[in-house]
Amino acid sequence: MKIALFAGDGIGPEIMEQARRVLDALNLPGIVVWEGDVGGAAYRRHGHPLPEETLQMARAADAILFGAVGDPECDNLERHLRPEQAILGLRSNLDLFANLRPATMYPGLEDMSALRPEIARQIDVLIVRELNGDVYFGEKAMRKLEDGRRQGYDFMSYAEDEVRRIAHVAFRAAQGRAEKGTGGKLCSVDKANVLETSQLWRDVVIETAAEYPEVELSHMYVDNAAMQLVKDPGQFDVVVTGNLFGDILSDQASMCVGSIGLLASAALGERQTEFGTFGLYEPIHGSAPDIAGKGLANPMAMILSLAMMLRHSLGREADADRIEAAVAKALQDGVLGGDLGGDAGTVEIGDAVLARL
Ligand code: ATP
Ligand code: MG
Repeated sequence: MKIALFAGDGIGPEIMEQARRVLDALNLPGIVVWEGDVGGAAYRRHGHPLPEETLQMARAADAILFGAVGDPECDNLERHLRPEQAILGLRSNLDLFANLRPATMYPGLEDMSALRPEIARQIDVLIVRELNGDVYFGEKAMRKLEDGRRQGYDFMSYAEDEVRRIAHVAFRAAQGRAEKGTGGKLCSVDKANVLETSQLWRDVVIETAAEYPEVELSHMYVDNAAMQLVKDPGQFDVVVTGNLFGDILSDQASMCVGSIGLLASAALGERQTEFGTFGLYEPIHGSAPDIAGKGLANPMAMILSLAMMLRHSLGREADADRIEAAVAKALQDGVLGGDLGGDAGTVEIGDAVLARL
């Protein structure tokens, strides 16, 4: 299996180093690890935030582990040369259309949640958001009507194959949780009472369900889902939804669990590798330039991104479970980074996770 590591800018290299230590400790058979430049770091060395050689490496890999991009010193560059273009370019060039964002409450961290602790305790949800379609990518215009009034216009559309492929990703994730005994429910979120796109979404999700008899499917309107997510988050296991609704619900779910230094994400493509689904894995936080180079960053989100990679792209579910359990144990033992009000540094947290692996 071939893994590409793109550490990027700011705290990216520091937290990637800790994820690399965890990866090395697993001693995976037949593993090949490449390192590539992205972001401001790549701009300095190659004159572009996503050099051709990085893109080729990404295409040849079975999975990509991505740190963070973003560099205040690059803020004045032309848009296409800015560090952020690296992640946007990877998403579009590799057709990474499925965004997976798990939100899990770790015991002892309930006070970090925006919810009451007894409600926060129940959260263990995986949001699967479609990333390449919907109203964000439809025809759009700002125009003048005949009477001179300005009108903004965005065209919302989904084709059935776009819905079907994201539905498969979500059903597979729910089925994986069913097999592990940690879940097995899929809630599809739409607005089918008013939107044609949502009616199609619902029809296609129902058709797809026939292939996954073990998964318990339900449907919910997005307004109700937003309410239920804070009222009774324990009812959700896997949630699948379109780009617009998923954008909002995934940020909402993140804040329900709390710290930015703990949340991982995946962007999956359609290509199946020998071991799973091709994908790119990254923390949801950015390059945190304010603490870069100080050894203060919490590497847990990066390490949990590695766990997601093992699960979804590399067929190493047991290793993913081991890493997640080691992180949970470290947190339970009070190994807390600055983002959680503690004083454990980057290397210290890496040590603590390794020791519990
Ligand atoms: P970018 O533009 O790269 O997204 P940003 O400053 O907008 O950067 P983040 O990088 O996510 O956003 O940082 C937001 C805040 O959270 C910063 O104060 C940062 O120090 C903190 N932070 C982010 N990630 C971590 C982490 N892994 N450990 C500790 N603190 C973090
Ligand atoms: Mg940011």
